[in-house]
Amino acid sequence: MKYGQYSSELHDGTIYTARWFAPETDPELMCRCGCRKFAIIGDMLMFLDELRDAAECPIWTTSGTRCRAHQEHLLQNNPNAVGNTPHEIQTDGLSYAIDSLVPEKFRNYSKQPEELYRDFIRKHHPTVRIGWRKYMLYRLKLLDSPTHRTFAPQPFVHIDMAYLLEGRHMNPIKAAAWRPGVEW
Ligand SMILES: [Zn+2]
Repeated sequence: MKYGQYSSELHDGTIYTARWFAPETDPELMCRCGCRKFAIIGDMLMFLDELRDAAECPIWTTSGTRCRAHQEHLLQNNPNAVGNTPHEIQTDGLSYAIDSLVPEKFRNYSKQPEELYRDFIRKHHPTVRIGWRKYMLYRLKLLDSPTHRTFAPQPFVHIDMAYLLEGRHMNPIKAAAWRPGVEW
């Protein structure tokens, strides 16, 4: 395992290198269309490292960098499961959002695993925007359907930092419209 290979720019322009994530073990931080683009904002890498420390278990990303072609492909194929926010949303070419698989340790309680994981993430970062209700309901609907049971996605939450960070190319008008801490 080679750490020190996922490096990216923080919003202040300095470089952050992921402590816990490496291409050999965590290729999912790269685009899944086959292009293997890696362009996640350094602040997200730092956040994932901190989440990994606190959770004391692996953190899996189900969708990391998405190139524009891949985003369009996903939207065309399953808009309900994907959502309509591209991970690469600001204009500096970096991805400000990821989808994170709910780790096993958050799944053995009475609440839905997405809710528990959301609570845990919220403790560590009150301002990130978290998408989970929509995806949880979609997953439960699929689990309820005998014909779709085998295709039901694993529980995940969408973690979004777009317009929370004063990136070099942040659009202040959009930043004002995207409220910190929103959930959907
Ligand atoms: Zn791609």
